[in-house]
Amino acid sequence: MSLENNSWGTATRALRSGHRRTAEREHAEPIFTTSSFVFESAAHAAECFTNETGAVNIYSRFTNPTVACFEERLAALEGGERGVATSSGMSAILAVCMAFLSQGDEIVCSRSVFGSTVSLFNKFVSKMGITTHFVELQDLAAWEAACTSKTRLFFVETPSNPLCEIADLAALAELAHSRKVKLVVDNCFCTPALQKPLELGADIVVHSATKYLDGQGRMVGGAVVGSEQDMAEVFGVVRTAGPCMSPFNAWVFLKGLETLKLRMEAHSANALQLATWLQEQPGVKAVHYAGLPTHPQHQLAAKQMRRFGGVLSFEMEKGREAAWKVIDATSMLSITANLGDAKTTITHPATTTHARVAPEARLAAGITDGLVRIAVGLEDIEDIQADLAQGLC
Ligand SMILES: *Cc1c(COP(=O)(O)O)cnc(C)c1O
Repeated sequence: MSLENNSWGTATRALRSGHRRTAEREHAEPIFTTSSFVFESAAHAAECFTNETGAVNIYSRFTNPTVACFEERLAALEGGERGVATSSGMSAILAVCMAFLSQGDEIVCSRSVFGSTVSLFNKFVSKMGITTHFVELQDLAAWEAACTSKTRLFFVETPSNPLCEIADLAALAELAHSRKVKLVVDNCFCTPALQKPLELGADIVVHSATKYLDGQGRMVGGAVVGSEQDMAEVFGVVRTAGPCMSPFNAWVFLKGLETLKLRMEAHSANALQLATWLQEQPGVKAVHYAGLPTHPQHQLAAKQMRRFGGVLSFEMEKGREAAWKVIDATSMLSITANLGDAKTTITHPATTTHARVAPEARLAAGITDGLVRIAVGLEDIEDIQADLAQGLC
């Protein structure tokens, strides 16, 4: 029995969508730790093997009920017809590439995407004869100019990491569709609790479930959400190539999703308070956070996001030395490049996440040596501020 209801709001979907209660009448979602499923007869087995849609359970590389529950719940949250869970965020992006691209095809991608996404496109997807053109995420004319008759996918993340620049998803979707291109959005920073790209016209959403979907830094996972037709292609890749999600991981992500809306609201509230406070601190030259009314794209962000998320960055006037001083003076914050965790994390992008970008390109992209990124967690805001204040004086 499906407990699904289309009129449910985000918090309800995050708690209840996708759970098909079994005959045991369990309250919490069960974990099906089984590699395979048994058939009632030889004829039943033969019949099941003719079905390649994932509608019947055969083998857990293809489908698994716990993983299916996570897929249905995330699809319900994003407002997509179907979800496909993967072993990581990167394998979700790879599965999209394998599903929709052939030799000779092209991708147009925002310059400000996750570092491994750039490496995946440039080092590995390129080996399949697929070219990626990188453009500024805000520059619609550049997206249009980079688009050729061979372009199949637009790929974007918004807000960008670490400068919180905003891509206009509705405008990008319109441009993509006028060229018969699919718009793929990495919705990792916002999650569907804050931004629903499919409602704004995107075709496909990819996730690193590792970040806010889990929200507690416990496991690595990913997912793709979109139309039934598109997801049938992505499912075909995952079913065959095997970057599937384990049922145990799916169960942990289901537990994470239960508090998604609450957490994203709390992350956003803490981040807005911290951004506002940072603007007034000594030695801070600029604060990048789309929730600040002074952010150049605040209006656009307010239109396409419910709130502004947990990630912000700020620039120290005195460069790298001052940035490192702030980081090293903290005693509570975790110095790590990870984000999307309940615990606040702090990092120096120029020497960590963006260290492999050439210095000139890095500066051109606005990643200065004085920049510090914070993924604001759920601690009391006064404690986060006190920890940062130690290195700001
Ligand atoms: C972490 C991350 C990824 C990659 O996800 P993994 O689960 O680490 O494979 C992709 N996109 C964004 C925006 C990320 O932050």
